[in-house]
Amino acid sequence: MLGEGIAKGLVETARNFFGSYFTKDRLTTVQYPEERLPQFEAARNFPFLVYDGGDWQAGLRCVGCQICEKECPPKCIYIEKSKDKKPDAVGKLQFYPAVFNIDVSVCMSCQICVEVCPFEAIKMDTEFELSTDDRFGGLLWDKAQLAKSNEHYRKIHPTEAAEVDARLAEEKAKVDAKVKAAAENKTTPTSPGAVQPGSGASSTQ
Ligand code: SF4
Ligand code: SF4
Repeated sequence: MLGEGIAKGLVETARNFFGSYFTKDRLTTVQYPEERLPQFEAARNFPFLVYDGGDWQAGLRCVGCQICEKECPPKCIYIEKSKDKKPDAVGKLQFYPAVFNIDVSVCMSCQICVEVCPFEAIKMDTEFELSTDDRFGGLLWDKAQLAKSNEHYRKIHPTEAAEVDARLAEEKAKVDAKVKAAAENKTTPTSPGAVQPGSGASSTQ
């Protein structure tokens, strides 16, 4: 029948419109900002720098390697590597970013910086209420603004953060085992008859 599809569509629209007053499922919008829809775990907006522990400066995982800066397609990351070193998340002495800025007005949320980072140091945030009337200074974030705790990461991306935690714990256990083995080798007393490497002693007479 001519117009049957249009009539069916209008009936469906009317059902949803009037039904939304009685059934929550038919209401597809919420009263933002008082009400908010829960965010999807895979949601992403702009990057942040992850830190471990309670001190963001000491706990930043970033070692200032600048890989993300080189790989960022619109070149909106700016890093200056430190001259000195501090222990990283797994206890190895590493450089850190003396300066780490991201111009989020240029960032296209591609996540390439996250993919290329070998240190699990940069992740995508889900924060979206970022409007400002300062187009330049307000959207050029330094490392103090970019630093967010690992607890924050666990909260917004729990599955991904749990995998990263497990991987870092495994790496730390390997480093600790190596350090322990090296310390034990140093303190093990050598037996009187043992031949020391480089001592010049020969096993044959
Ligand atoms: S965020 Fe990662 S890739 Fe970028 S400089 Fe820091 S450690 Fe390197
Ligand atoms: S998300 Fe993409 S555009 Fe934004 S800082 Fe990372 S690499 Fe650059």
